[in-house]
Amino acid sequence: ERHAASPGEAGPGATADGHRVPLLANIGRPADLPAALEAGAEGVGLFRTEFLFLEAGERMPSQEAQAAAYREVLQAFPEGRVVVRVLDAGADKPLAFLRPGQGPQEPNPALGVRGLRALLAQPEVLATQLRALAQAAAGLPVSLEVMAPMVADRAEARAFAGACRAAGLQARLGVMVEVPGAALRARSVLQEVEFLSLGTNDLAQYTFAADRQVGALARFQDPWQPALLDLVALSAEAAKAEGKGCGVCGEAAADPLLACVLTGLGVTSLSMGATALASVRAELAAHTLAECERAAAAARASDDAEAAREAAGAVLSGS
Ligand code: PEP
Ligand code: MG
Repeated sequence: ERHAASPGEAGPGATADGHRVPLLANIGRPADLPAALEAGAEGVGLFRTEFLFLEAGERMPSQEAQAAAYREVLQAFPEGRVVVRVLDAGADKPLAFLRPGQGPQEPNPALGVRGLRALLAQPEVLATQLRALAQAAAGLPVSLEVMAPMVADRAEARAFAGACRAAGLQARLGVMVEVPGAALRARSVLQEVEFLSLGTNDLAQYTFAADRQVGALARFQDPWQPALLDLVALSAEAAKAEGKGCGVCGEAAADPLLACVLTGLGVTSLSMGATALASVRAELAAHTLAECERAAAAARASDDAEAAREAAGAVLSGS
């Protein structure tokens, strides 16, 4: 099936004074493209490829099958950005074809061989996916970006970049910041790749030692927590110092007020489920960058998520 971006009603994401913040869509499969295009997404900021693998069942989808799905996504945004995340398996996303010892058999799967670590332990799975991405992008003008999940330090970022080069992939490479260690040493990690993308769902889980699947700990998933905002700020400042981009693709980006705060913290793009795009675009357009920066400072000066939300809300409602 062929989807294509059409010039919609929705303009590009920007603050009231014209500071550009591309608004991108999170997708899990090509079937999510029509909603993203309809909502005026400027590209895909997070393609969670694990659904392709989960739906394939016992065996890894072939390079051909993967390439067909990736190409469908790339063709939908011929002028735009498409950020594909390599397989993020393990923990909450176990996969049958990953060898025993990687996944639910581990005592603490969320702290185990998951995400990029599982791919580095099974390099043929990663190499097949990277070759499928190279095949899908061949001959297309789109700007393909490929990122790795759950990167903890520079060595993991280097291993990912090395695997991409070995597979002959021509793409901008990035890593997700989902582990506090990567945020704390973001400048070091950025020596290996071109961009960061903050996965605030996992970053919250690992910052507060609170399993994101445990309902009793749900308050720790609140992305307004000042400690999480501090880690976002550190990452964005590091990226700015290196002249590189730092997006957010976790749930945080889908909250219109928080999207303004993230912009004020220096985040350079926001990726979210398609349904959130219109309200985030409208809220961002209602405030200047300076107002977003004041709201971010007020949120970071707060003691907890509730106070941060109120403080930022007070700044932004006056603007
Ligand atoms: C995240 O952790 O914030 C993220 C975007 O990745 P996922 O929700 O797929 O783990
Ligand atoms: Mg994650």
